[in-house]
Amino acid sequence: MALDPSTILILTTALAAAAALYLAVEWRSVREKSLLYWSAGFAVITVGCVLALLRSSGFLLVGIWFANGLLIAAHGLFLAGVARFTDVRLSRAWYLIGVAWLAMLLVPGEAWWSKAMLVIQSLFIAGICLRASFLLRPHGVSLSVGAVQLRYVLLLHGIFYFAKAASIIALNTVVDLAAFRGEVIQVSLVEGAMAIMLIALSMTGTERHRREERIEQLAARDPLTALYNRRALDQRAPALLQQASPHSPGALLVIDIDNFKQVNDLHGHSAGDKLLVALSEMICNTLSQGALAARLGGDEFVILLPGTSSESVEALGNALRDMFSQMAQQAFATPKAVTLSMGGTLFEQPPASLAQLLELGDAALYASKRDGRNSVRVVRGA
Ligand code: GH3
Ligand code: MG
Repeated sequence: MALDPSTILILTTALAAAAALYLAVEWRSVREKSLLYWSAGFAVITVGCVLALLRSSGFLLVGIWFANGLLIAAHGLFLAGVARFTDVRLSRAWYLIGVAWLAMLLVPGEAWWSKAMLVIQSLFIAGICLRASFLLRPHGVSLSVGAVQLRYVLLLHGIFYFAKAASIIALNTVVDLAAFRGEVIQVSLVEGAMAIMLIALSMTGTERHRREERIEQLAARDPLTALYNRRALDQRAPALLQQASPHSPGALLVIDIDNFKQVNDLHGHSAGDKLLVALSEMICNTLSQGALAARLGGDEFVILLPGTSSESVEALGNALRDMFSQMAQQAFATPKAVTLSMGGTLFEQPPASLAQLLELGDAALYASKRDGRNSVRVVRGA
């Protein structure tokens, strides 16, 4: 089969329809609005391609510039989807592109005007794609692999349209563009088919990666305090434990609230929850760079510190203890003081396992509970 423009157009129609359907199905499971915008964008491309095909087959339903205008609308929907994905409000000025295009359709079609419209259409599409690509730049936060792919595909697609506009202006002045008309259309259609595939794939990847990241975050966090859970600590601790050396020892600190049950019994379970959240916030605010904090369960928390000393661990424990007891005393009156007991262990070389460290920390914690609570006890470990 010869790769003539109408064959490529048929393939493009099929690809666009498949992409629209695929993204709509993806939306049914992921429920992210951006997927709907993107799916609608591909649906509009499908309609535009069908109109162009009907026209080339002699069914003069509408002018070709209406079908070409749909390409601008489709890219507008892609931009709207990216804006939704990145939580950015687009300026209303972008709608003016659609208004300007509709106004241009009313101008009688002379040869030079057709060329001008092609340049303007290409520039509109280039602008929309470059804006969408710019929205996907990393804002201090690292982007998912899918979002990075989408960013570059949109960038290249935008540059292609920009080059197309430039070539129409430049080539026309030097050589007769009409001589290359067939090639120009063919290159444009092949680029279109490739762009549909790449954009659709990276759009699905974008949302999939975000969903996977969310699931991973949920699986790693304690739902009440948003601190790491035991599973996440088990995964992240080995890298920190390996850093330990006699010059830069690491430390593990196990924290348990004293008489916490009294808060639950006298002030209700939600008061107890508030206290757990307040303690986790205090822990986060006192953490140094590279340290890890987790809720082991109930009212028990753990902090893993790299490059520290026995004095620093005691100082950190005592600071937390003071802040917590003041806050708990003010917030919830109880017969017995609600305070913190802590057990720490220092390690000057990578320990055999996190479990072994936790056992040492627990033993130190219970020693400090036995000694009357509201205290910090640090022992030398592995
Ligand atoms: P101790 O001074 O010996 O540490 O005793 P305690 O009263 O602090 O109680 P203990 O540490 O033995 O037990 C922790 C309690 O915390 C048991 C449970 O009722 C309560 N608890 C566990 N998880 C939650 C939670 O998510 N929210 C609330 N509000 N309470 C919890
Ligand atoms: Mg307790």
